Order: sequence, then C-alpha cells, then structure tokens
Amino acid sequence: MERIIYLDNSATTKPFDELKDIYQSNMANFYNPSALYGPAIIERKKVESARKNICEMIGGENGTIIFTSGATEANNLALGGINYAGGAELVISEGEHPSVYAKAKALELQGVKVKYVPLKQDGTIDVEMLKHYVTGKTAMVSIMMVSNETGAINDIKQINKTIKSINPKAIFHVDGVQALGKLPIDLMDLDIDLFTISAHKIHGPKGIGALWIKNGAKLHPIIFGGGQESNMRSGTENVAGILGFEYAVKKSIEDLKNNSQIVDGFKEQIINELKDQNIKFLRNGTNASPYILSICVPGIRGEVLVHELEKHNIYISTGSACSSKKSDNRTLASMGRTEEQIKGAIRISFSAYDNYNMQNVGKIIASEIRQLKQKIEGK
Ligand code: PMP
Repeated sequence: MERIIYLDNSATTKPFDELKDIYQSNMANFYNPSALYGPAIIERKKVESARKNICEMIGGENGTIIFTSGATEANNLALGGINYAGGAELVISEGEHPSVYAKAKALELQGVKVKYVPLKQDGTIDVEMLKHYVTGKTAMVSIMMVSNETGAINDIKQINKTIKSINPKAIFHVDGVQALGKLPIDLMDLDIDLFTISAHKIHGPKGIGALWIKNGAKLHPIIFGGGQESNMRSGTENVAGILGFEYAVKKSIEDLKNNSQIVDGFKEQIINELKDQNIKFLRNGTNASPYILSICVPGIRGEVLVHELEKHNIYISTGSACSSKKSDNRTLASMGRTEEQIKGAIRISFSAYDNYNMQNVGKIIASEIRQLKQKIEGK
C-alpha cells in the first residue's frame, strides 16, 4: 500500500504510540474511580494527579479542570452552564466552532439574546467592534484562541481586558482547542474564566476533553447523575482517556518550541511550491498558526482539489472538517471573502511528528492545480 500523507491534523491527529501502554494498563486496572476499595482508589489518585498536572501545564493553578467527553461537550457546558435569567446576554464571534455557534443558536431559540461579533479580513476578532457588543447585560463572551479553519490567532489577553473594562462580571470563555500544545498558554496571565481543551487534536485519545474553570467562576452543570467531577459532569470517568490526555498535553508542551519550527518549515515548503499558482492566503504571516495553511485557488472548487489529492493518498480538507459538507462558510463570509474564494478554500494542517517530503507534496498539489485549471480553461 502506498504511503498515506495525512495533512488534516486540525480535524484530528494520529494518537501517540505511548497511548497503547496506557490503554493496556487500564484494561487490567479497570476499576471505577468512585469505588472504595484499594485498586479503585489508586485509579482515583491517577485521575486527580492528571487533573492537577494538566492545570499546571497550562498555567491554570488558579482554577480546576472538569473532564468531559471532548471539546464539544466542554463548549456546551461553558455556554449552557450560565444563568441567563433577567435578560442576560451572550456574545460570540462569527468564526466560532459549531460546538459554540450551534449552542448559541439553541440558546437563542430558548430566548437568550445572542450577539455575533464579525471578524476582520484577517480572520481575527474585531476588538474595536467587540466594544460595541459587550454591555452591562453581558453574562458571557465566548471567543476562540486559534481558528480551526484559518489558523487566525486572537489576542485573548487584550480581548479579556476589553471585556472586563466594560463589564467586570462578564464571564470570558475561550475555546483553546487549536492552541493547546501549539502556542504557549498561561491561563493565570491571560486572566480568563473558562478554557476548553481537547485531547485528540494533540495526538491524544478521542472522546476526552476538559473545561478549565477559574476559581470563583459560577457555572451550573448540564449533565446530571452520580455527581462525579465535583458535581459538574456526572458519569463514570474515562480514566484511560484522562491519562492519555495528560500524556499528550505533557509531550506536546515539552516539544512545543521545536514542533512550531518544524511545522513552520513544512508550511514554507508547500507555499514555496505553490507560489506560481495564483493562490490566495486566507490567513498567513503574523497572528497565524504555523499548523494551518488556509488558502484558496480562485476558479477551482476546494472539494474537487481534495478529491484529486486523495488519488495521491494526500488527505487535506476544505474549510474545516466539521463544516466541510456545507457550501456556505460563515467564518470566511464574515472575513469578507467572495463566494468564489469560499468555494475554493482548502485547509492543509500539519503535525510536527510527521516526516513527509513536503517539497514533493507541494509539487503534487501544484501539478493538480495546474491540471484542474487547464481542464476548466479547455472547456
Ligand atoms: N473547537 C475547535 C476549535 C475545534 O477545532 C474542535 C474540533 N474540530 C472542537 C471545538 C470540537 O472538539 P471535539 O472533537 O473534542 O469535540
């Protein structure tokens, strides 16, 4: 079988090999961490140690982590765990992941007033604009740190200051999924209230994520049951997932600097090969994640290019995997992109743990673009 060239790491990543040992060990130590006998207490200790360690690794000692089934649930907990009684408002951006955006839409249907802040042309939040959206009535603001679609990086510290200067009581939630293990994160320094993370975007297991909650931030649970996770998220803990998550956070933060340089090099190599193809960058340069190359080729549909590349065993994505089946793309539309640019959008997302020949990959992409253009022009 030909080698697969997987370049869709914003959708998910290949699990670290070390997870096999963690899962193997959990097969033997399968006990429910809430039970009272010795081996179960050992599992409970492992979970609590992972909680503490992950908190420390993201500079969040001034809060705690609630483990969830992933970032989708963590985002739903953040937005759904707020009391909106008395006309309290929710502010999100037009570029949020569907797990924030669709939850906001659902809250809207229940009568919550939701305001949607537009993006700037570069995909970041318009902070000047945000000032007009936050008021004394704002209960929560939710804005992502790094866009899963474009790689645009928001200045979370500045956004937090802006929000708190208008309404110190507003809770600021940040979806940090595409930032964890890729950008340095110091939650105490950012001074935010809630932070969402997910394991499978950093070579950890699927089905495990967390919401970090700053001490004192008031949130109510959305899942009820046995009272696990300090009553904030009932359900028997996914111990293997939690330990795999801890491993993935540790390894990706340890390797962060080096990894950044590696993926930056990958990105440059591909851009270099595409420079004669009249591509448009949806986001690049400063304030853009080195892990994501978001471009469009005017005149060529992104999905056609994706399928052509699959014939070479190169897997990439249009826009984001979560919204790839939808023809409209609200993130790119909010950035003022034309219909043609939106249809032509592709996303190539890297992992530093790969050793593909990116120059070759770039050459294949360039050649496919050339051939598709010739086909269109020949019609
Ligand atoms: N937020 C962002 C920014 C994401 O990229 C994703 C994954 N596409 C999620 C949330 C949802 O994560 P999970 O798959 O862990 O539910």
